Amino acid sequence: MIIVTRPHITDAELDAIREAVERAGLQTHLSRGEHRTIVGCIGDERMLAEVGLATLAGVESVIPVLKPYRQVAREFRADPTIVVVGEGAGAAIGGNELAVIAGPCSVEGREMLFSAAASVRAAGATLLRGGAYKPRSSPYAFRGLGEEALALLAEVRAETGLPIVTEVMDTRQVDVVAEHADMLQIGARNMQNFALLSAVGDVRRPVLLKRGLSGTIEELLLAAEYILARGNDQVVLCERGIRTFETATRNTLDVGAIPVLKRETHLPVIVDPSHAGGKSWLVAPLSFAAIAAGADGLMIEVHPTPSTARSDAEQSLTPDEFTNVMTRLRAFAAAAGRTMAPPNVLHVNTPPDAVGAGAS
Ligand code: PEP
Ligand code: MN
Repeated sequence: MIIVTRPHITDAELDAIREAVERAGLQTHLSRGEHRTIVGCIGDERMLAEVGLATLAGVESVIPVLKPYRQVAREFRADPTIVVVGEGAGAAIGGNELAVIAGPCSVEGREMLFSAAASVRAAGATLLRGGAYKPRSSPYAFRGLGEEALALLAEVRAETGLPIVTEVMDTRQVDVVAEHADMLQIGARNMQNFALLSAVGDVRRPVLLKRGLSGTIEELLLAAEYILARGNDQVVLCERGIRTFETATRNTLDVGAIPVLKRETHLPVIVDPSHAGGKSWLVAPLSFAAIAAGADGLMIEVHPTPSTARSDAEQSLTPDEFTNVMTRLRAFAAAAGRTMAPPNVLHVNTPPDAVGAGAS
């Protein structure tokens, strides 16, 4: 922490600042300039969080030098985190192979879910998405089939082997969602629902944390810190576009956030081009941009018949469109030094450190 003082600070004011810092257990170092004195604080600056330095007489500004997050910071872990989703070998997110989560916005029934699952699996998706509880702007819109959808998701996993990703919107749903799903999604609107973040931090299921509509990168990392602080370090971050002045796209995909997050944290980072663009024709270019910028994977909405979709119809891809995106994505993956699961086979990732671990 660096404290910049006002010009003409008195000795008594300077002493009071030093005493406040030293009472919190840190040391001070003065650097006297012609007009101002800078007070360097040496030690754990988190101890100063509640000291209220900015309110002391003679203080002009207080500049932190440490990041406010700890466990999500890249320095906290030597290697990037690989999150393994699902039973057995599971599907890895954060390894060299790109993870692709695909499926409908909402689970609308058995037939459409099984059809979507079969088609995304055939195209090389590694995980299946499908909302059971839907956050909708209007209370009169379709809000998901709830537990009925969770049961269908568990059924389709048994059929296809694809691990299931689904949203949990409320602390009261955490247990039932964790019972059925392999990965718990925290939606954009809940990025700062701190009770929910703590609740998913208490369960032993990987979490997909989406960036809030107006969440800064630092706020996203602090939201993830809530989950890690409770002992769950299996967290994947998702850039899904933020709200800006632009209205031509549903949200503005913040491509720059991808390399920034990859630099700041060891957690995997994926991109949701569907909610970012809001239009099916934008999904391919935004997917390619995401992988070129270093994303570890994608989450894409796919519906057997988008025109009948009960939510996010405009941005949902048909199975053929999804297959086409996956085919074209290979060249971008290769250019970024990444691999992709082959199409048409039930492929299960094995993270490098798990190879041979179970051999007996
Ligand atoms: C979703 O994934 O269907 C969803 C509602 O996403 P977001 O929270 O990013 O809007
Ligand atoms: Mn959606």
